[in-house]
Amino acid sequence: DVCSSDLIFIIGVNMSDNKSVVKPTYRYEVDNLNQSSWKINKRGGSLIHDPLLNKGTGFSEQEREELGLLGLVPPKVVSIDDQVKRIQENFNRLPGPFEKYIFLEALHDRNETLYFKVLIDNLEELTPIVYTPTVGKACEHYGHIYRRARGMYFSTRNRGHFREMMNNWAQDEIDIIVVTDGSRILGLGDLGCNGMGISIGKLALYVSCAGIYPSKTLPAVLDVGTNNEELLVDPLYLGVNHRRLTGDDYYEMVDEFVTAALDKWPDALIQFEDFTNDHAFPLLEKYRHKIVCFNDDIQGTGSVALAGVLSGLRITGEKLIDQRIVFLGAGSAAIGIANMIAAGMVEEGYTVEKARERFWFIDTKGLVTNNRGDKLADHKIPFARDEEYVKALVDVVKKVKPTILMGLSGQPGSFSKEVIEELNRHVDKPLIFALSNPTSKAECTAEQAYTWTDGNGIFSSGSPFDPVNYKGKLLSPGQGNNMYIFPGVGLGASVCKSTEVTDSMFYIAAKTLAEMVTDESLDCGNLYPKLSNIREISLKIAVAVCQVAYSEGLARLEKPENLEDFVENSMFSPYYIPYSK
Ligand code: NAD
Repeated sequence: DVCSSDLIFIIGVNMSDNKSVVKPTYRYEVDNLNQSSWKINKRGGSLIHDPLLNKGTGFSEQEREELGLLGLVPPKVVSIDDQVKRIQENFNRLPGPFEKYIFLEALHDRNETLYFKVLIDNLEELTPIVYTPTVGKACEHYGHIYRRARGMYFSTRNRGHFREMMNNWAQDEIDIIVVTDGSRILGLGDLGCNGMGISIGKLALYVSCAGIYPSKTLPAVLDVGTNNEELLVDPLYLGVNHRRLTGDDYYEMVDEFVTAALDKWPDALIQFEDFTNDHAFPLLEKYRHKIVCFNDDIQGTGSVALAGVLSGLRITGEKLIDQRIVFLGAGSAAIGIANMIAAGMVEEGYTVEKARERFWFIDTKGLVTNNRGDKLADHKIPFARDEEYVKALVDVVKKVKPTILMGLSGQPGSFSKEVIEELNRHVDKPLIFALSNPTSKAECTAEQAYTWTDGNGIFSSGSPFDPVNYKGKLLSPGQGNNMYIFPGVGLGASVCKSTEVTDSMFYIAAKTLAEMVTDESLDCGNLYPKLSNIREISLKIAVAVCQVAYSEGLARLEKPENLEDFVENSMFSPYYIPYSK
């Protein structure tokens, strides 16, 4: 079986509180994944139709003879490089990103090695297709472009049976599960079970950016219903046809999923993805110290934004604790970022309370204050200010004179000319983060940020923007993409078998990322390293995360002599391994 593990862990698990007891007793086993050839028990059609094992025309003569493949593929044996050429030729013929997404997913569904070879070799070009922004459109139309389930769906109809359903999944070992309830997909709102596209996309990034083995990933959807009227009346929508579960019913269903997953795959890390913030925060608080999990929208976003801020301060030469930061939006992402930046300020000597005084939040009702007369959601309370309530963003900017403006509101155009000019009036080099996704939802464009600040603004976005030629200088806005962070954090936590994913891991990830930004990148206004170095970035982050896990006593794997080599050797690379019977 190709999915056997490289390590056998003998651990004690105290199920009463779901928390693994640290017992680093383990032994190494010969790793089938790392062997120079794989013994497989599939043949003929069942081999060709297994995307994890299929090589298509890449099967060797010997494999064709031994594994019952003669006649099932054309006679010529084709190298993976030549297969890539065929993929590229067909890919380039397609008219737009949406068609390209469908084409790549079809490849994903028939030959994962080839898919990841294409993706890893062309990551910068293809990430906007397999992930944001194109994946957003794919999710909106998921029922219309659906071809094959490549993840698991747990719906209200199956309650009480999640554990037995998990036995239907072919793999006994899972490292990472990405699960969404589809309630807040990117900035696009409730897309119900169409959120599967996000789980699949995130895991494709785990594999390509951090070398998680494809066979050890599980995309999942908790189909609790949808309140999206268009989907409810769409005959091609594939989810359950009722409105969303709420209250205890909802939490019980999530709990059934988490408990079942932990029982079936005790070493799996669960990434909560694209949950609305009314559920995202309570779920994170409920599980963060019980199981190996994190919420990327909160913690991953916090980390990548902090990295951008730290890089930006390399340009301005200022300290983190001296920043005044205004957030448009006070949801999961904004609060996650503020918490992470506050953690950075604490590192620079502030108390958490003092750090929180450097933040101003604006939500749909205006500045988040203690006196504005409405009941604040729990996650906003620590940041609510004791000062006069102001409604409009521009007035807050006038009053606060922020050094950093963060957009996480999903409101395109909300960083208007008036707002940006006001910002620029008080600060030499304002940092402007228009982080709402996809590109169409960004609070302003790169060009607007540069033009309205007369080139002083340092701009980053959540989705990609093309470089801008501003008065003869080519400015390349960086993309504060969570993919810089979560694959490396997941890899690190997974390889050292950490019992938790902590905020300090996300903090170290941010620092590691910021340190990898070159002076040349900063000179072009780019606060992030080149995406083409993502595997090296993920490796460095994973090693740093492991070090945190060891220093905090969370790692269940005895520390390897050379941690970096160990992590690197545990990463998947896309090439064909010879098979034998
Ligand atoms: P969320 O729904 O939890 O929060 C949205 C917030 O925006 C809420 O506080 C809401 O009150 C506020 N808001 C909405 N309309 C507003 C308006 N007109 N004026 C002021 N505030 C308004 O969503 P989230 O998870 O926090 O995500 C927000 C955005 O951030 C999304 O577009 C998402 O794609 C993006 N995001 C980007 C990254 C990244 O770039 N790395 C990561 C995560 C999320």
